[in-house]
Amino acid sequence: MSGGSDKRDSAGDVVIVGGGPVGHRLAQLMARHGHDHGGTLTLLEAEPVRPYHRPLLTSVLDGGLRLDALRLPQVPGARCAPDTTVTGLDRVRRRVRTASGEEYPYDTLVLATGAEPVVSPVPGIRTASGRLLDGVTTLRTLADCARIRGDRIVVLGGGPLGVETAVALRRSGRDVVLVHRGPYPLDRRLDATAGDLLVRHLTSLGVRLRCGRSAVRLAPGELVLDDGPPLVWDSFVCCTGVRPRTRLARAAGLAVRAGVVVDGALRTSDPRIRAIGDCVEGSGRVPGPLATGRDQAEALAAALTGHPSTGRRPADVFRPRLAGLPLGVLGTPETAAAEVVTYSDPARGRYARVSVDAAGRVSSAVVVGLPEALATLTQLFDAHRPLPADRLALLLGRVPAGRPAAAAATSPSDVVCHCNNVTRGALVHAWHGGSRGVRALAGATRATTGCGSCADEVRRLCAQLSVTEPAPAAGPPADEGVDDTYDLAPHPGDRRLRHDRAPVDREAALP
Ligand SMILES: Cc1cc2nc3c(=O)[nH]c(=O)nc-3n(C[C@H](O)[C@H](O)[C@H](O)COP(=O)(O)OP(=O)(O)OC[C@H]3O[C@@H](n4cnc5c(N)ncnc54)[C@H](O)[C@@H]3O)c2cc1C
Repeated sequence: MSGGSDKRDSAGDVVIVGGGPVGHRLAQLMARHGHDHGGTLTLLEAEPVRPYHRPLLTSVLDGGLRLDALRLPQVPGARCAPDTTVTGLDRVRRRVRTASGEEYPYDTLVLATGAEPVVSPVPGIRTASGRLLDGVTTLRTLADCARIRGDRIVVLGGGPLGVETAVALRRSGRDVVLVHRGPYPLDRRLDATAGDLLVRHLTSLGVRLRCGRSAVRLAPGELVLDDGPPLVWDSFVCCTGVRPRTRLARAAGLAVRAGVVVDGALRTSDPRIRAIGDCVEGSGRVPGPLATGRDQAEALAAALTGHPSTGRRPADVFRPRLAGLPLGVLGTPETAAAEVVTYSDPARGRYARVSVDAAGRVSSAVVVGLPEALATLTQLFDAHRPLPADRLALLLGRVPAGRPAAAAATSPSDVVCHCNNVTRGALVHAWHGGSRGVRALAGATRATTGCGSCADEVRRLCAQLSVTEPAPAAGPPADEGVDDTYDLAPHPGDRRLRHDRAPVDREAALP
C-alpha cells in the first residue's frame, strides 16, 4: 500500500522497532533522504545479529549462499541495536522500554515487528513445560536454520514456505518428506493441472510427498500420520503459517485486529505511531508479500522526510523458488472472467491458464514451465496492458517483434524487480553504465536482491543486451545504491544435487 505523500520532515527522533527487511528498508531510505538533519534514527532489533534478508534463508539452507551474503548493509547515521527486545511502549512519555531496562525516547515510533510462525497443534509437539520437542523448529530466523540437524527431515505444511524449505533441504542432500493436508502442495494457489506438474517436479528432485495426510501425533524422532506408516525424522520443520506480531501494539492499547490497524498514511490509532510490513493489517492478505512492506517503507520514508513518494502498489505476483521449475501465479484466480485461455502440454511440463477481463487484460494467471510467457504475462499484468490478439503465440513465447503487446512487454517502464521497483529502463541504463552481468546489475539497481524471483528475467535481459548492444558505453551507474547485493550467480545446489548420495527412499506417495 502506498501511504501517500505527507509534507515536511516533522518526524523528529524516530525509533523503529524491528530490523527485518521492512524496518531496515525504512531506516535505509530515511538515511538516504537525509533524515539526520531532522532528528535521530534508531533501529531496535530483537535478534542478536545484524539485519539480514529473510526471504533468502532457504538459500542458506541449500548451501547456495553464505550467511554473510544475507546481511543487509549498515545504515549510515542510524543507531542500530541488535539483541534489543522492546517490551513496552509508554505513549504518554513517548518512550519505548527494552528487556534490559533501557528506554528510548521518540517523536515518531514505527512498528515493524513483522510476523511470527504459527506452530501446528500436533499432539506431542510440545513438552509438558510448553517447549517445542527437541529437533522441532519453525523457519523464520537464522537461528531456526541452525536448528535443522541430521539427514532425515520432515517438513509439515505444503504452502509456499514448506515447499521452498523442502526443495532447499533436498538440494542440500537430505532425505526430505513433505507432509501436506491438501491434495497437492500449493493447492490454495494452483489448480489441479498446475499442481500435478509441481508434484512431478518435486518428485524429480527427490522430495517425498505425503499429500492428503494429517499429522496425528509427534514423538521424539517419529511422526504418526492419519494413514500410512510413521515417518522417522532427525529434524521436524513446521511450516504451518505465520501471523502478524502484534503483542506490543495490543498491550499499548493500539487498535489491532488480525494485524495492527493503520490508515492510508500508515498511522496507527496513535498518530505518533506508524506501522509497516508484516505486522500491519492492510487490504488483502495478512501478512502480505514483502513487496507490499517495502512499498510501505518507501511511502513512509518519503512522508516522514518530506520527499515525494515514488511508491506504487505492487502487483500481486507469486514466484516461488523451485529449483528449475518456472512457476508463477498472478493475481487471484477468479471464477468470472470474460475469457479464459488455457494451454496444456503436460508431457513437456508446460501449462498456462490465463483469465482475461473485458478490456483484454490479464486478471489472473497460473503459468508453469513457460518462462518466456511468464515474464511477458507478468509485465502485462503489472502494467495493466492488454494481451496481444494471438494469445497462443504469447504463451509459446513467440510474439513476433513489432506486435503491440510484444513491444509493450519490453518497454522501459516495465517493472522487472517488483521488490525494489526496478524497471527495465533502469537496468538498460545501468548496463550502458558498465554493469554487465546479473551481479553488477544487482549492485547498481538492487534488482534481484528482494525475493530473487526476477533473477532469471535479469539474466535473460543480460543475454539479450549482450547481443543487441554489445559496445561498452561510458556514463554513471543508474543508482548510487550499491548496497544490498547478493550473489545470485548460477546456483551451486544444481551441481550438488547430482553428486550427492541418493535419498534414502525415492518414492513419491502421490495422493
Ligand atoms: C524462508 C522465507 C522465504 C520467504 N520468501 C518470500 C518471498 O519469496 N516473497 C515474499 O514476498 N515474502 C517472502 N517471505 C516473507 C518475508 O520474509 C516477509 O514478508 C518479510 O520478512 C517481512 O518483513 P518485516 O520486516 O515486515 O517482518 P520480519 O521479517 O518478520 O521482521 C520483523 C523483525 O522485528 C523484530 N521484532 C519483533 N518484535 C520485536 C520487539 N518487540 N523488539 C525488537 N524487535 C522485534 C523481529 O525479531 C524481526 O527481525 C519469506 C519468508 C521466509 C521465512
